[in-house]
Amino acid sequence: MRETLRRDPRREWIARNRLHPEHASVLADMGGGAIVSEWFGPSGVVRKNPRAVGFIGPNGVKRIDRSGLQQGEQSAVTATTARDSRRAVHIEQPAFVVAVVPDLSGGRLSSHDKDLLGLARRLADADPQSPGAVLAILFGDHKETALGDAGIDRVVHLEDELYTGYAPEARLAALGAVAREMAPRFWLLPDSPLGGADLGRRLALRLGERAATGVWQIDADSQTSLGWRCTARGGAGSLDIQRPLPRVVLALAECAEPVDETRHAAEHLSLAASVPTTLSRIEDLGQVAVDPAGVALAEAEFILSGGNGVKEWEAFHHAAKVLGATEGASRVAVDDGFMARDRQVGATGTWVTARVYMAVGISGAIQHLQGIQRCDKVVAINLDPGCDMIKRADLAVIGDSGKILAALVALVEQQRGGQRDAA
Ligand SMILES: Cc1cc2nc3c(=O)[nH]c(=O)nc-3n(C[C@H](O)[C@H](O)[C@H](O)COP(=O)(O)OP(=O)(O)OC[C@H]3O[C@@H](n4cnc5c(N)ncnc54)[C@H](O)[C@@H]3O)c2cc1C
Repeated sequence: MRETLRRDPRREWIARNRLHPEHASVLADMGGGAIVSEWFGPSGVVRKNPRAVGFIGPNGVKRIDRSGLQQGEQSAVTATTARDSRRAVHIEQPAFVVAVVPDLSGGRLSSHDKDLLGLARRLADADPQSPGAVLAILFGDHKETALGDAGIDRVVHLEDELYTGYAPEARLAALGAVAREMAPRFWLLPDSPLGGADLGRRLALRLGERAATGVWQIDADSQTSLGWRCTARGGAGSLDIQRPLPRVVLALAECAEPVDETRHAAEHLSLAASVPTTLSRIEDLGQVAVDPAGVALAEAEFILSGGNGVKEWEAFHHAAKVLGATEGASRVAVDDGFMARDRQVGATGTWVTARVYMAVGISGAIQHLQGIQRCDKVVAINLDPGCDMIKRADLAVIGDSGKILAALVALVEQQRGGQRDAA
């Protein structure tokens, strides 16, 4: 029987339309086991696998498909297989423990925390014959659900209210208890100004160690006592210092690749002895509300950024106020006089590190994207579904900026009104 190849124009159209809700499933049905050719790395930089671009045509010549179909197909297939193909790892009897104290800012592992866990895995997995376990010590409430995917084998979760907010003494007492009970070989903390930098230095003092700070690289070195050497930024960021890796390590973001191939057990442990709770000489009076407009762009956690696609600037400023966001802008918005020069985001403006960057009517020129490389989540509002900002975004909203901001403001005000009524 002759097999007739039947075309389905609707499915082909969905396969070309990256924004169609059935796009991924249609591509997965159509696709083979192709490899991904382009993806966003953990720092937001586009990574490319040049070998995966294109396909070999019937005459043996390599062809590159510019329709987007092949790329979409590959991403969809890889996304599903990547989710499903993580290798499960359970370390029953670890030879040693690498303790990590993530910042968990906002209750979730930040990209800096994930890099640090990647570094911990390198230390733990260096000798496959006798692997170590990565132990995460978490303070206060958190919303993180993917601890195992980040490379954590064991978790000590100290939920007591005592540990929330700025509580270095209580946290240090808890870390002291972990040190006594589990004797970690290494202690890793993020060298972040509002998190691990302070706690890590206190811990080093408590343990009588000389911490390595500003670490961005480690290499195996059998000549050193712990078998590793590290490279750290020194001299106010002007030089690199090499030294044997000590027990207490304060590492910078991008010190290692985050874990993405294995899934770990994230088994919960509790401390055998209770931690002393009455020693705090510091009283945390809570967070003070600041005017987001006064926050420096480079330090802002939530940025609402406007570009040439913003037509009603009053409404944009109102939205920033209601959402509690710091304002940013594209160069066009600045050049046109709608925003001050110090609000420009990008290669020739400020490089930002917000946890959420909302780009309103910004096309995503390369100079702008460079400035948002290190943002955790990007939300794009744009009329053009094919623009580069939409490709970069974690969440895309296609529509008129004025209407969408107005709807967002109305929703937030309605929710706040509801909360006030309930109180
Ligand atoms: C040397 C050099 C350095 C540069 N440095 C920077 C820099 O640091 N930062 C920077 O930002 N740029 C920089 N630029 C400029 C950059 O190349 C772009 O021109 C600029 O980023 C474009 O700004 P934009 O996205 O706001 O405007 P456009 O490119 O005009 O894009 C406007 C977007 O808004 C959308 N839109 C239109 N109307 C609506 C609507 N009603 N609702 C929703 N969306 C709408 C459009 O679809 C489009 O995507 C630099 C350029 C050069 C040459």
